[in-house]
Formats: sequence, C-alpha cells, structure tokens
Amino acid sequence: MNVAPKTLRRLSDLEETGLATTDKRAALERVAAQYAVAITPAMAELIDRADPHDPIARQFVPVAAELNIQVEERADPIGDDAHSPVEGIVHRYPDRVLLKLTHVCAIYCRFCFRREMIGPAAEPLTAEKLDAALGYIAAHPEIWEVVLTGGDPLVLSARRLKQVVTRLAAIAHVKVIRVHSRVPVADAARITPELVRALKTKGKATYVVLHANHARELTEAAREACARLIDGGIPMLSQSVLLAGVNDDPQTLGELMRALVECRIKPYYLHHGDLAPGTSHLRTSIERGQDLMRAMRGRLSGLCQPTYVLDIPGGHGKSPIGPNYLSQDEAGRTRVEDFNGGSHCYPPGPAT
Ligand code: SF4
Repeated sequence: MNVAPKTLRRLSDLEETGLATTDKRAALERVAAQYAVAITPAMAELIDRADPHDPIARQFVPVAAELNIQVEERADPIGDDAHSPVEGIVHRYPDRVLLKLTHVCAIYCRFCFRREMIGPAAEPLTAEKLDAALGYIAAHPEIWEVVLTGGDPLVLSARRLKQVVTRLAAIAHVKVIRVHSRVPVADAARITPELVRALKTKGKATYVVLHANHARELTEAAREACARLIDGGIPMLSQSVLLAGVNDDPQTLGELMRALVECRIKPYYLHHGDLAPGTSHLRTSIERGQDLMRAMRGRLSGLCQPTYVLDIPGGHGKSPIGPNYLSQDEAGRTRVEDFNGGSHCYPPGPAT
C-alpha cells in the first residue's frame, strides 16, 4: 500500500528526508521552538538535496542563522498591532481591513513577517471573536475591501470559508473580498471546485493573491490549481518577497514574473523583506531591489512588472520604493531615463 507523503513538521522528519543533518540538531531545536516549521510534500519534493543553495530549501528549511536577531528587527515588523481595533482586524488604510481568520499556514516561510504570531500554537480566532471582527466591519461603512489573511485562510475548509464569505457578502458596503494565500503552490489539492465556489459570492468581487517567490513553485499541480480559481471566475494577482539567494537576480526574478503571467496571474507586489526577527540572511538592500526593477523594466512585458514596495516599520503602511526615472539637469529641465539608461529632456508642463 502506498502511503501518502506527509507534511514535514519535526526535525526528525527533516533529517529522515535529507533536509537537515543531526549535527545541527541542537541549534535547530532552538529555532523550531521559536518559529513554526512545516514543509508540504509538494515543496519538499522540489528541493534539490545536492544543492546547498537550493532556493526552495532556503525559503522553508529552518537554519541556525535564524537565531541571529539584529537590533533593527522586531516582533511586529509592519505594525499590525498598532492598527488592530478588535482581535483579528487590522485597519491601517481607510477603505480596507485585514481579517486574520487563522494563525495556521500550510507551510511556514522562514522569512515570514508574522512569524512571531503564527503557527499551530497561536490562539485561533474563536467564533465570538469572529463575530466581533465582522461587527467592526459592518459598523464601518468606509470599508470597501476585506483582505482575508492570517496565517493562510485557504487552510480552512470550504464550508468555513463559505460561512465567512456569506457573512461578508451580507455587508452592503463591502464590495471586494481579497484572499492572500500560498496554498495554490504549497498544497494545490486543497483548491477544489467546492473551495472555489465557496470563495465566490454574487454581487461581490473576489480576488486571490498568490504568494510565490520562485518560478519552480509553479509546478504543474500549482498551475492547475490556479486555473481552477481563474476559470471559476476569480481573478488572480501575485505577491512575492525579494529574498537573498532565492530570487535576487534579474534572470530568476524575470522567470518568476513571466511564469506568473503565463498562468494568468498579474504580478502585483514585490515586497522588500520585512524586519522580522532572525531573517537578515534573507534580506537584500533596497538599492539591490531597485537595480532588479530597472533590469526588468523594458526587458519584460509590462504585464510582468510588479510594484516594488516597503512596509514601513511601525505600521505606517506600504510605500512604492522602485527606481525613479525622473531627474532635473543643471538648467532645471526635467529629464527622463529610458530602459537602456539613456537620458532625455521632457518639455515643461503648463503652469499650475
Ligand atoms: S504563508 Fe504567509 S503567513 Fe504563512 S508563513 Fe508564509 S509568509 Fe507567513
């Protein structure tokens, strides 16, 4: 009898499958005690054990470097708590809120910006707390969009998701439901026709934003899962995190953006790495990110261009931090740079 491969959660699982060695056990026990570990069979299978720099392993396999906490790193790097009027809600921008339905994920990313708050040990959002969170949304008519996040909301059953979507649909001023998830790549089989139907609701637009950081994550199964969502009437966008040793070179990043577009997924955000504890080995400089955006501009279709953003530490929201193509010369004239680095004068606009 064939036994279905299981999600790797214990260090012994990682050792048995060649993803960790016993000589690292003591350090990794300290890492795993602090930050959740889970690697789904689909992602474990993608890892090349012979490559010590494998970009999939780098994202999911715990390493001792996570014990190096830098002074600038913080438990709540993007300042969720400062904007949480009731548990489960983050209301940072006027017209939208995050609704954190669960603290659990199918897979745990080593760079996660919410790594201090997520994992199986974190407290779930109880029915009473969900009532309070939905009550908050209903009481704030300025909320046009609700972003389901977590954790990963697509680990929940289709039945549970349907209940939440139905309750959101009953709030007249909520027009858009956006779901952020890594499940279509990490555990594609969860994207069943029933789950797709659960996310759709009459009169509201549902979007799914896929989190993917390397083209190899878009396996055949992942592509089919995304097609089920899109063919089911749910447009998809993507968000990726710029990660040292994973996607911080023009070719790899370009391949990722093209693979997404080929799957009918519009690249939306490229996030600069957040100041999450123990993640400095995965962060790049902002200058590096800007160079990569310049390298993609003009060489890849406009469809493949995400917005490079930084979540300002402390809860001040996202700002685009891509390169600036405008400058002024000594004569005060506006100059604009083309994608080959050439500089061109642009005539002054009308006086305002
Ligand atoms: S799926 Fe998202 S919330 Fe979960 S560990 Fe990865 S980045 Fe964090």
